[in-house]
Amino acid sequence: MVESFDKQYQPKADRPMAGAVSGKLEMKVILLPKFYGHCPGLKRSLRIADELILESKKDCNPTSPRLRGARKIYYDVPLAHNEEVEKRLKKGGFKEVNIDEIKDGKSQYFLISAHGASPAKIALLESKNYVIKSAVCPTVEHVQKIAMADHAAAYKIVIFGKKDHPEIKGVNGCVSDSSIVVSHADDGLMIKLDQKTSVICQTTISSDKFAEFVQNLKKSNPKVEIITRNTICPIVEDRVRKCSAYVETEKPDLVVVVGSKTSSNTKQLASKLSKIVPTLLVADEEEIKEEDFKNIKTVLVVSGTSAPPEIVERVAERLRTYERRKKAK
Ligand code: SF4
Repeated sequence: MVESFDKQYQPKADRPMAGAVSGKLEMKVILLPKFYGHCPGLKRSLRIADELILESKKDCNPTSPRLRGARKIYYDVPLAHNEEVEKRLKKGGFKEVNIDEIKDGKSQYFLISAHGASPAKIALLESKNYVIKSAVCPTVEHVQKIAMADHAAAYKIVIFGKKDHPEIKGVNGCVSDSSIVVSHADDGLMIKLDQKTSVICQTTISSDKFAEFVQNLKKSNPKVEIITRNTICPIVEDRVRKCSAYVETEKPDLVVVVGSKTSSNTKQLASKLSKIVPTLLVADEEEIKEEDFKNIKTVLVVSGTSAPPEIVERVAERLRTYERRKKAK
């Protein structure tokens, strides 16, 4: 059995689901283009990665089985939270590396992911002789610019997001690691500010939690000037909002969210939907089991922005085979 998201869905063979009837039933699988697929930022970085693979092989001997002369493309932050994408890139010459362990990059490529990087990291890579290529999402670059402008205008920067997330390390690095980074809404009640402050957030954070955090921060610092920069990615926000509205109205028996358990936007989507209807979070079609759908009449398949659309379609197709088998019985 697939582990349910937020442990809300505990399928049992004879447990009736909302809208389901016992005995023979047909399961409707709903897959809507607006609720799955890569975001533009990730599409762009994957396109840059593919172009770099071609570029890296330009000077190599095409008859050599090992493509002698091809440049390596190093990275330290995976481009997408997805194993299949990683495998494909590695096949094209990508290699994960810990930059602290490398003395000389020997003029090989280093690709910065959509999450961005701090100026100090870029300088370190340059000092190690890497040829740096950027696949940074323009939305993330915009967040970095906001942080730098407010920092230059003498605002203390508070970031609502995960300290170890590469995007946050990059944004914090743009203000010389001087910001306060917190990830719980309640943290807003603990922070005591002594200067005017600009609050920004991780692009993939929940808007509800961000609003709660800002409210708490203002409550505990009533005399301090606090400006709020909603830097949530509009693509993520839009998918979560529209998907939640659809689920609220249509009330499918179950939602299958396809994506990685380490992807912030995927977890946010699954968390929000699990509050409305039972929700499963799966990486691919191998993680779903037919018995989990025994009493399900309608299932909606959606995904986070990092899940490749092919995988989402394979999940929907696997569910349709269950449906066909039910009909055949
Ligand atoms: S989720 Fe938004 S910010 Fe992140 S890569 Fe995609 S478009 Fe850019």
